[in-house]
Amino acid sequence: WSKETIAVVTGGNRGIGFEISRQLADHGVTVILTSRDASVGVESIKVLQEGGLDVHCHELDILDSSSITQFSEWLKENYGGLNILVNNAGVNFNFGSDNSVENAHKVIETNYYGTKRMIEAMIPLMKVSPAGGRIVNVSSRLGRLNGKRNRLENDALREQLSDVENLTEELIDGAVNAFLQQVDDGTWESGGWPIRFTDYSLSKLAVNAYTRLMAKKLSDRPDGEKIFINCYCPGWVKTALTGYAGSVSVEQGADTGVWLSLIPEQAITGMFFAERREINF
Ligand code: NDP
Repeated sequence: WSKETIAVVTGGNRGIGFEISRQLADHGVTVILTSRDASVGVESIKVLQEGGLDVHCHELDILDSSSITQFSEWLKENYGGLNILVNNAGVNFNFGSDNSVENAHKVIETNYYGTKRMIEAMIPLMKVSPAGGRIVNVSSRLGRLNGKRNRLENDALREQLSDVENLTEELIDGAVNAFLQQVDDGTWESGGWPIRFTDYSLSKLAVNAYTRLMAKKLSDRPDGEKIFINCYCPGWVKTALTGYAGSVSVEQGADTGVWLSLIPEQAITGMFFAERREINF
């Protein structure tokens, strides 16, 4: 990895995304820290640049397709593309009691569809290199299919989403859209969805399923054009998203994401990690 290696980090202006940007730059990679508020992005990179790191910024709102298009054009023109994409931007409103219909849509739109949009937009811009392109999705153990915290009571759906051989985009989109439909008409609890953390858990469950699906789809690319995609849980991290109530630091939360971004082994794709170890989906 060198200055020629370009890494793009979404939601890089604070929390885990900021720390991933810092650690990647510390490894000698050129980092494009993106932020939905351009002025906040400028302030964020100042701190890193003052420390001698090669970090640049650009505005990017993953909810907004035109923002993604503008960013893609800028990236191609100024850097010729990228080698590493870290999909870190995310929201969670479940820590208060704010389980509103509007927030459920925002969570699924940002965490799942926003991540998916970024992957679709960045794949054509991935640079040809022997190391291959890297995509790292910051996910959560709350999105595990059989996790204790994710009480996904809809068995048929769980089975479908577990079956990586028959996984399709339509199936994943269908699952999140069916949930949102039930949120809209007030039937989500009787539809088998758990009560707490539902929208957030499902958004991360969908990101995980999409990671596996994309790993399979990307596996037949020719040498040099390979792209490896994985997801990971950063742990319960002290950031704004947890009201700074987490149990691990941002440094620890960023570590596995940085490791996955730079790991030389090419056999690692379509997997889920925590603390640098593979865990079950
Ligand atoms: P923060 O709330 O500190 O940071 C979230 C970042 O995402 C912010 O930079 C925020 O920007 C950005 N963001 C939100 N929506 C958008 C959008 N539409 N477009 C672009 N950027 C956006 O949270 P964390 O650092 O904790 O979270 C980072 C990731 O880690 C998330 O995906 C989260 O789900 C995941 N995660 C976090 C855990 C934790 O314990 N903290 C546990 C498991 C997973 P802005 O400043 O403008 O709001």
